[in-house]
Formats: sequence, C-alpha cells, structure tokens
Amino acid sequence: MDAQPVIAPVVISGGGLVGALAALLLARAQPQWQIHVLEPNEQGPAQDQRVIALAAATVELLQQHGLWAELAQQSCGIEHIHVSDRQQLGMTRLHAQQHGVAALGQVIAAAQLNQVLYQACQQQANIVWHSGARFISTGAERDYREVVFEQHGETHQLRTQLLVGADGQRSEVRSQLGIQITSTDYQQVGIVGILHLQNSLNGWAYERFTDSGPIALLPMTNNRASLVWSVNPAMAEQLQHCDEASFVRQCQQAFGYRAGLFSGIEQRAHYPLQLHLAEHSLAHRALLIGNASHTLHPIAGQGFNLGVRDAIALRDSLACSDDAGSYRSVSGYWQLRAADYRTIIGLTDGLVRGFSNQLWPLTAVRSIALFGLDQLGPVRNQFARQTMGFKA
Ligand SMILES: Cc1cc2nc3c(=O)[nH]c(=O)nc-3n(C[C@H](O)[C@H](O)[C@H](O)COP(=O)(O)OP(=O)(O)OC[C@H]3O[C@@H](n4cnc5c(N)ncnc54)[C@H](O)[C@@H]3O)c2cc1C
Repeated sequence: MDAQPVIAPVVISGGGLVGALAALLLARAQPQWQIHVLEPNEQGPAQDQRVIALAAATVELLQQHGLWAELAQQSCGIEHIHVSDRQQLGMTRLHAQQHGVAALGQVIAAAQLNQVLYQACQQQANIVWHSGARFISTGAERDYREVVFEQHGETHQLRTQLLVGADGQRSEVRSQLGIQITSTDYQQVGIVGILHLQNSLNGWAYERFTDSGPIALLPMTNNRASLVWSVNPAMAEQLQHCDEASFVRQCQQAFGYRAGLFSGIEQRAHYPLQLHLAEHSLAHRALLIGNASHTLHPIAGQGFNLGVRDAIALRDSLACSDDAGSYRSVSGYWQLRAADYRTIIGLTDGLVRGFSNQLWPLTAVRSIALFGLDQLGPVRNQFARQTMGFKA
C-alpha cells in the first residue's frame, strides 16, 4: 500500500518581506512544524530598490528576533516628524523624546531587510525554502489543501493544513481562491528616489502637502533623503523625462526650503498609486497576508508595517493549534486583524483624499486639523502611537 503524503502544517506562497517574516515568526513559535516557503527568485526575493520607513514597533520586533543588529548600521532613525501644508499655517510635529523613545521609526533599504530576513530563514532548521518555486494552483479537501507549484521546469505538489498567500499585489493565490479585489485609482503616481542634500536632515522626516501633491522626505545617512512625491499622471510623465537638474529644481520649488537645498537625485522610479483590497482575506484552509491582501498608498508609510502585524497575528492565532488550517485558527486570525485594517486603511485613504485636494474648504479644514493636532497633547499622542505602529 502507498504511504499517505505528509501534510505540512503551513505552506507560504511568497518569500518577500511579509512572507519571509511570517515564516520566521511561525517557525520559531512552532519548532515542531515544518514551514514551507515558495519563492520564484533563486537568491532570495527580488532586489527591491525602495527605501521604507519602519515603525518603532516593527523595529522592536526585529530586535527581539536578533535581526536588527545587522540592519542598525545601515538605517537612519526618525527622531522628529514635521507634517505641514505648504502656504497654509497649519503644521504638526512629533518628537521621539516626548514619547519616551529614541526614534519614532527607522529608514532602511527594503533590499537590505529582504536579505536579512532571507538569511535568517536559511538558518532556521524548520523552514523549507523552495528557491525558484512559483505557486500555480490549489484545490481544497476537508482536512488539507493540495498546492501545485512549478520549480525549474517541473511541477510539484505539496499537501498542507493551511496555505498562506504572501505573494504580493498580483497574488496568484488570491486569484486561485477566486477572491476578488476592489481597487481605487487615486489618479496619482508616486515618484520615489534618493535625494542628495546640502545638509543632513538630522533625524527629521517631513510630510508636506503641496499644490502638486504630497511630498515625503525620510532621513538617510550621508546627507541623503528618501523622496516619495505623489503627482498627477501628466506631471509624472513630464518629471520622468526631464533631466536631473530640472527634476531637482522642480522638487525644490514644490517642497520649499524647509529641509535646505537639494543637490541631486538618484534611483528615480515611478509607481501608480492605487488602493487594492481583497474583498476578504480568508478561504477554506487559506488566508492572505501583506500586499496580497492590501496594497496601500505609500503616503503614510504603513503598507509593510501593516503586513508585519499580519505576520504577528498569524503566529498568535496558530499558537495553541494542532490544526493550522482549522476554521477556529483561520477565523481567529481575522478577529485579530479586522479592526487594525479598518483604522489604517481609513487613515491612509483619508490622508490621500483630504490632502491631495486644493479646494479652499478642504485646505482650511486640514490646516485647522494640523494646527489642532499640534496643540492637543492627547490627540497628538494617539497619532504618534499609531505612527509608531503601537495600538492606539
Ligand atoms: C514607493 C513605495 C514606498 C513604500 N514605503 C513604505 C514605507 O515607508 N513603509 C511601509 O511600511 N511600507 C511601505 N511601502 C509598502 C511596502 O513596500 C509593501 O507593503 C511591502 O513590500 C509588501 O510586502 P509583501 O511581502 O506583502 O509583498 P512583496 O514585497 O510584493 O513580495 C511578494 C513576494 O511574492 C513572490 N511571488 C510572486 N508571485 C509568486 C508566486 N506565483 N508564487 C510564489 N511567490 C510569488 C515575489 O517574488 C515576492 O518575493 C511602500 C511601497 C511603495 C510602492
């Protein structure tokens, strides 16, 4: 008689930032489980050019898992945040010291974080990392899922109690599960790049709402700043084709001189700004995490931080489970996540809609809101806690 195939507790499709972190947290919490990760890239996830801001709570988690030491030398702390509306009076400031922390967050190259997570997964004995493996399809039985993937031109199968889709914005798991997405196109393009500055930002991060759209500057080492500038598609087209000097001039004109003189730009890239939300994140013996379930506007720098909390909730909801894919485990996950999704997605969407509009009543209201936030300690504290990724 043929032996029954082994049923793995968890198979994660996608070894990007969120998938790799989820694998690590689960593998360390459940040393008796084997966690399988399918990742199409051979040497870990793709080298992502973007620079991301990590909330203080994310940094704390990385520290707890011994992952921060290597990243610390390459990161830059956000000690102050300055949010303002160009040509309006309103502004608000947050200071790490006032909130009893050394930094409100850290700025790091996504590629470096990817590599550290990938290496940690390679060293974790109970993670089986399938390099060059692409998830293809899945079928559900009562007690398990069949997972079909392609690796080096061959088709393979795995059985699992729980399939986790962490395969990004164009998630194949999501589409195989028949989960629809709702999309909001903000008719804006995010231009990102590394700005060279005459002077260091000294730990200040800026979010400035301008006529052309919001501009965020995040402090980096060596007199550099990470730029995220959201503009309309026509302006994006123009900026994409202009030379470096003209780009820097236009950016300086739009932002003003609050952060000093801009002297150059490198690694320019463009992203259409859209909100993609899976209509739900659960299916029988399957769930979606990270960008597979939500892709946010980068304006509030919350996308990955939200994915980190997905990974933590996944670990916690499976903590006492002997069947990772049971209805109780999967629905327990969603109970831990639903409220956070509503808050962060509402906050980000509200920021995009409220602050990309130049109609007089809206600019007046947001100036009052920013001014009020600066004056009202408790409200500002709550905003700061959310920014740092702690529960409000
Ligand atoms: C311009 C910009 C700036 C941003 N800034 C910030 C910020 O400051 N702070 C923040 O928190 N977030 C930020 N974000 C969001 C953040 O980058 C994302 O939330 C994060 O990268 C999502 O990670 P993920 O692992 O879910 O998805 P991804 O990084 O897309 O990873 C998906 C993985 O799945 C793999 N994959 C794809 N297809 C398959 C398949 N068929 N089978 C198996 N694997 C597959 C891919 O190879 C990849 O490794 C920003 C985003 C943008 C666009």
